[in-house]
Amino acid sequence: MRIAVASFGQETCSFTPLPTTLEHFRQFGIDEGEAVIEKRRGVGTIGGFLAAAEEEGIDLVPLPLIHGWAGAGGIITADVIDYFERELTTRLQKVLPIDGMFFSIHGAAASTKTDDAEGYLLAAVRRVIGPNVPLVASMDHHAFITRQKIAMLSALVGHRTQPHDPFDTGKRAAKILFALVRGEIRPAMVYQRIPMVTHQEQFLTSKGPMKEWFDLARELETLPGVISISNFPMQPWLDVEEGGWASVVVTDNDLPLARRLAAQLANKAWSLREALWKMDSIPPDQAVRRAVQAEKGLVVLSDTGDTIWGGAVGDSTCILSEMLRQRIPATALVPILDAEVVEAAMQAGLGSEITVKVGGKIDKVFTTPVEITGKVAGIGGGRFNAEVVGQNSFDLGRAVLLEVGNIKLLVTEFRGHSGNHPIVYQSFGIDPAQAKMVVVKTSSNWQYYRQWTSEVIRVDTPGPTMSHLERFQWKRIPRPIWPLDDLQQWHAEP
Ligand SMILES: [Zn+2]
Repeated sequence: MRIAVASFGQETCSFTPLPTTLEHFRQFGIDEGEAVIEKRRGVGTIGGFLAAAEEEGIDLVPLPLIHGWAGAGGIITADVIDYFERELTTRLQKVLPIDGMFFSIHGAAASTKTDDAEGYLLAAVRRVIGPNVPLVASMDHHAFITRQKIAMLSALVGHRTQPHDPFDTGKRAAKILFALVRGEIRPAMVYQRIPMVTHQEQFLTSKGPMKEWFDLARELETLPGVISISNFPMQPWLDVEEGGWASVVVTDNDLPLARRLAAQLANKAWSLREALWKMDSIPPDQAVRRAVQAEKGLVVLSDTGDTIWGGAVGDSTCILSEMLRQRIPATALVPILDAEVVEAAMQAGLGSEITVKVGGKIDKVFTTPVEITGKVAGIGGGRFNAEVVGQNSFDLGRAVLLEVGNIKLLVTEFRGHSGNHPIVYQSFGIDPAQAKMVVVKTSSNWQYYRQWTSEVIRVDTPGPTMSHLERFQWKRIPRPIWPLDDLQQWHAEP
């Protein structure tokens, strides 16, 4: 079975000031040819695809094209889309004929060229392979579903859980693709848009309303004739045409059934909207006080407004300032993006004391720099090899560790995964078990600190990924949409 394999992904935040360029993709590593699959055995969606082929005993001839990933960030510049379009299509042309294609996409990528960046690339792929070759995508469930994506794909599969399950998602998508190539199924796929957005505070699928919605998908998936069901609670900071939540149902040649189930899922999500809008986060002063007073560490402080995995910059000083103001008596691990301070600290040298203004230099809307005096306690950074959110390495650029009272401030040149993985602190000889609190730049992926975590506190911080969605200037998302508009009645009809 000759299967082309590619991946492209970035999670766009429309409200962040930092455009995503080809350089950001390079910081995570663009892979070409064999490296696309060789680096991903056992990891992520492509790892899942390879495992599925093995499990099913497929005589697989993988035809790896290109892999590009840039984490989450601002809107993607047009040249990036042109680059991937060119690479994908020229590489595809060289490997034709193919029996099918596995395309791992994120699904929430927007560019200055087109809102639906991935739909655009799927269309480019279709032009090369023609209308009849099976094309299946694995997707992040925070994606936005569009007419273009649905029209170009034979089938698509989204994550079942948050935190995500990319390996499993890849596996499920691959199994559908193989069945399609073997002529065993005839997918009928429909999507139902749901006119709502919510913040990320109820995004975990292990509890609450999100669990209820995903459990229903799993239940309906057991019905005869259903191939796959995917819920898409779109990530909240995506101001795009066709934005909003969606449900996607793939049946075996049964369009009415797919329509009926997609509507049922959409109506279920709509009925849960108030519960999904419940905010758990507390103001920064209270959050820091609670972390200080906690019986034991490690207290995870989620910086909801500055989550780099939602696309924010990672240079907010909001929680840092509060810790300085309260002169916290316990060890805190705090990450921040600031290339200038990295340079200044390196110039000053290990062991020296510096006074600098840190953070708030890129995001000038939601945060401001704060003056600190600290000791340069470590110089390091670079590329880290660790599986983080389905990817296998990330680059922080140069990084320094500053000791500012009890705060161990990790200052990095690139965003990478910021301090969201303990490996970066460990590289400076810090044991997270010895710290009282850690600031993470994510609003739902603190699993990498799980073994030490005593409590998670969501902090209501301002920023491009804040929970107060009503405070953003929405321009492109279709209106009316709940809760930005007074939309009380809505019902999906099959
Ligand atoms: Zn996601």
